[in-house]
Amino acid sequence: MLVYNSQTHRKQELEPIEPGKIRMYVCGPTVYDQIHIGNGRTFLSFDVIRRYLMFKGYEVTFAQNLTDVDDKIINRANEQGRTAAEVADEFSQKFIEQMHRFGILDPDIRPRATREIEAMQQMIVSLIEQGNAYAVPSGDVYFSVRSDHSYGILSGRDLDQLRAGERVEVNDEKRDPFDFALWKAAKPGEPSWPSPWGEGRPGWHTECCAMIHRYLGTPIDIHGGGADLVFPHHENETAQAMCAWHAPLANVWMHTGMLQINEEKMSKSLGNFYTLKEVLDRYPANAVRILMLQTHYRAPLDFSFDRLDGAVSSLERLQSCEKNLRWAAHAAPQDGKLTEADRALGTSVDAASAEFVASMDDDFNTAGGLAAIFGLVTASNKYLSEAAGDIETAVTLRAADTLVELCGVLGIDLKAGSQADALPAELLDLAVQYAGYEGTSVDEAAEVLLEARQQARKAKDWGTADAIRDGIGALGLVVEDTAAGARLRKAKG
Ligand code: AMP
Ligand code: ZN
Repeated sequence: MLVYNSQTHRKQELEPIEPGKIRMYVCGPTVYDQIHIGNGRTFLSFDVIRRYLMFKGYEVTFAQNLTDVDDKIINRANEQGRTAAEVADEFSQKFIEQMHRFGILDPDIRPRATREIEAMQQMIVSLIEQGNAYAVPSGDVYFSVRSDHSYGILSGRDLDQLRAGERVEVNDEKRDPFDFALWKAAKPGEPSWPSPWGEGRPGWHTECCAMIHRYLGTPIDIHGGGADLVFPHHENETAQAMCAWHAPLANVWMHTGMLQINEEKMSKSLGNFYTLKEVLDRYPANAVRILMLQTHYRAPLDFSFDRLDGAVSSLERLQSCEKNLRWAAHAAPQDGKLTEADRALGTSVDAASAEFVASMDDDFNTAGGLAAIFGLVTASNKYLSEAAGDIETAVTLRAADTLVELCGVLGIDLKAGSQADALPAELLDLAVQYAGYEGTSVDEAAEVLLEARQQARKAKDWGTADAIRDGIGALGLVVEDTAAGARLRKAKG
């Protein structure tokens, strides 16, 4: 399979360092507030990348840090009269909650910067010893970019170009304006740890690098994050690794495009953002996923609520197709004879699976993957209307199972939708009353009731048929006669 490496600007064959295994790391959030949907997009993209690698049979080890000490956290804590640790704990927990709601798999390893101080200090000591870092009188320690001949290798910038083109803060203690802090001397009231250079805390770039080395070993197969992290964060990460351990930090660097609103990057500092929480409060996670996966992870993603409404309709199409297939398969008599239509559906199932894999093998083209899934929805709906009355159980179930499986690879949980429109338990009483039902499954009770209504209508027993319909209506449901047979739906409004 092909993966785009942002270091080489090319798609390359994925070649794991250890056969069959992938070690990957994605920079986690700085926990000082609810994350926004732009952050959500990046984490979602890597969730799908990870899921697809697992689907392909790789044993994936996925690590993601929490940056729980940082200027933003300290400022927030000071504003609120709390400790930085309190703020970080609150938003770490809120971050994890939103990740769960969004259906993002937990990382295998979730290190927190404040608990990894020792590993970071070891790395800094090693960099100083090798002449790649220096401590200054204030107690800061800087990485010397000039000491690293490959500095700029990831972002493709050289130092002269950088110095000419960018404004950097003036700091007399630095030997080069692009030297960056590995260790920051503590200011009064800040969280700090003892170190050979005095009380202080680690720099952001130092964290990820030391944690990757400690938990995954370097180089790793895939290092990811948003495209805004290429420079300086990832450039600085890889510079430290090259100098400390004489190996690149990662074989493949993957970066997601920015989520934008009205063609502008969405960010906290611009104030044009929606939190992931507020969007998930209003919309099903599956719909937000569909919206995001309609765009390739490297391309900028235009977010709008209109597009999100469109994704809700797509999700409903998907969910009702899967349900209709199961209803139809369930109701079908088994005659074992394959018709033209049955065979055509079987071909569509195979084609959808093949198209899905071909798209995803091409640098995780999720838009192509979704197109394959919706192609199968179209074929399935066509089959259900054309083959009504002569449904073949096995192929129909295979279509439904394939939809569930392929959606699952994208993290779209079709079962999650049915939870929301789960049928009310009172249907059991109705089924007992009108059909002598003795079981305990609400879904089965619904089928039994619909069947009883059907029988009553056949027998021209309009009283019973209407009573069943009214009983169902009183539970806020309507009977819907579809090509695949009658089913229950929530009444609108
Ligand atoms: P931060 O907490 O700012 O370090 O961001 C966490 C992750 O979200 C990083 O990988 C960022 O690159 C990513 N990110 C930030 N803003 C956006 C955006 N508008 N669209 C996509 N990803 C973003
Ligand atoms: Zn990082």
